[in-house]
Amino acid sequence: MNDAKKETAFYEKLEDNYVRCNICPRRCEIKEGGRGFCKVRENVGGTLFSLVYGRSVSTSVDSIEKKPLFHFAPGSRAYSICTVGCNLKCDFCQNYRISRGWKEIKGKKESPSEVIENAMSNKSDGIAYTYTEPTVFYEYARDIMLESKDLYNVFVSNGYMSDKVINELSKNLDAINIDIKGNEKFYSEHCGINDIEPIFNSAKRFKENGVWVEITNLIIPGENDTPEDFKRISRWIRDNLGQETPLHFSRFSPYLELREKPPTDISTLEKAMEISNKVGMDYVYCGNVPGHQSESTYCPNCDKELITRRGFSITNLDLNRDMSCPQCGKKISIAGEKWIPDRFF
Ligand code: SF4
Repeated sequence: MNDAKKETAFYEKLEDNYVRCNICPRRCEIKEGGRGFCKVRENVGGTLFSLVYGRSVSTSVDSIEKKPLFHFAPGSRAYSICTVGCNLKCDFCQNYRISRGWKEIKGKKESPSEVIENAMSNKSDGIAYTYTEPTVFYEYARDIMLESKDLYNVFVSNGYMSDKVINELSKNLDAINIDIKGNEKFYSEHCGINDIEPIFNSAKRFKENGVWVEITNLIIPGENDTPEDFKRISRWIRDNLGQETPLHFSRFSPYLELREKPPTDISTLEKAMEISNKVGMDYVYCGNVPGHQSESTYCPNCDKELITRRGFSITNLDLNRDMSCPQCGKKISIAGEKWIPDRFF
């Protein structure tokens, strides 16, 4: 047991000092002395503790575009934190060393109040829970959010969380980017889960609860890169979240167990964008291709370039204060307007 312990939210006590964690759909049944799949929740004498409360393993100030969130508080700065641990096991994870490649709980002590102080002293506009899966450090994120007042709070998540967590988070979360990686076969072969309905459910529930939602789809050659794949995800988003939902097709870089795969061809990403646009999606981007024209935001009505991005920076923002297009007047789907820096107007 480390000194970052905190009794977890949402668990049940079972017979023989077992407990069941209800933070994510794995619903791990954990014997006394054992840990859940994510390895950051431990049963001590029939009580379930989070081992990573107040224990940040990586912090940085990033532009919100890096999350990626392109339609939430564009141009703002997010104090970004995570702890170790994850509830999936993706064989291409870029953050492997902190998501699952560790033996002891790592991280510096940073209480919720200190996170907020650090965010403010770094001139951040909000806090991003990112890099690993924030669902596994839910209690830490929750307590930071409760203290955060004028700062925004955003999750970058795999979406694999329980309804209880979704409902509680929705009270204080401003935006979320959910990574929808592929179909059931993909998740089963590459991420260690068979039931993917909870991920789609998360996206819908957050949207219904008024949280701003963007979707990322990492495209891996030979795994989830057919026209049918692009059509399926675009249609699902259009029909369930709305055509105004930003969709980020992201370029894969070879890593970990998929290191023999080639990086995604840019032409494949362009094909994905083309199909998604045909399906009717308004804001489709390709990610991890710095300098590509699809990093920028265009008016879906008149094609005017509204937000010009280079990498993760905004070089020009040409929107009216009410988030309408200055050329045709169409209202552009942007949330978190109050955190857009004044220098853009
Ligand atoms: S959060 Fe961790 S312990 Fe809890 S159900 Fe998910 S994987 Fe299991």
